[in-house]
Amino acid sequence: MPELPEVETVANGVDARVRGQKIVRVWTSGKPQTFKSPETEIVETLTGAKIERVRRVGKSIVMDLGRGKTAVGAQFLVHLGMTGRLLVSQAEVPLPPHTHAVLSLADGREVRFVDPRRFGRLSVVTSEGGYQGPGVEPTTVTAEEFAGLFKGRKLAIKAALLNQSILHGVGNIYADESLFRAGIRPLKQAGKLTRVELLKLHTALQQVLAHAIELGGSSVSDYVDADGVRGFFQLEHKVYSRSGEACLDCGTGLKKIVVGGRTTVYCPVCQR
Ligand SMILES: [Zn+2]
Repeated sequence: MPELPEVETVANGVDARVRGQKIVRVWTSGKPQTFKSPETEIVETLTGAKIERVRRVGKSIVMDLGRGKTAVGAQFLVHLGMTGRLLVSQAEVPLPPHTHAVLSLADGREVRFVDPRRFGRLSVVTSEGGYQGPGVEPTTVTAEEFAGLFKGRKLAIKAALLNQSILHGVGNIYADESLFRAGIRPLKQAGKLTRVELLKLHTALQQVLAHAIELGGSSVSDYVDADGVRGFFQLEHKVYSRSGEACLDCGTGLKKIVVGGRTTVYCPVCQR
């Protein structure tokens, strides 16, 4: 499941390749599961529009669209789901299996949405103000604002980090990794964290995300230019999916618990 850094990598990669291009034709597969907006609306909104910018909002890829001199403010939203991929290809490259949308560009290239398991979602937003996404953006939230988000919250800090209405885009891997780096137990009540702990967590979360985005940036062509199926890059995990293995800092066996329905791994010695 692509998390925030992977989504950002793809969004930046697509942006660098197609910004300023005009969409001349749109094809959709007709598989209803994939389309959150009616396909006819997606085709109408995208055809003839100029791609002003491609960026990440939460875990979604947002394509800002304009029409000539008068930007209409419409947006094309891509949620990658489990296996979704957004590729930029030359038109003569055969369509990969499970292609659900093709945006033909004026210069002859195509933006293709490929998704074997079909948990990905495509939609258009035409409302005033555009798509904002729920919650606060974790990569830019200030320490003060971050600390304020958890005041009085009775749920476990791990569950709070995953709650998309509080912070958008933080998934299981980066929640576990940042809690380990901050030395905080995942089950600790969010509202009971001290100011020092919250500041440590803020720093840890932003460092982990920034590092992962950096890693992704160096391998972006694998995700955007490739036509085959390739896995996403992986941050070197200190705790995530390492249950039972030795803590890299103190050697203690890492423990696995379930918090908010999600598998959670932590070090019982380093995290208090
Ligand atoms: Zn440890």
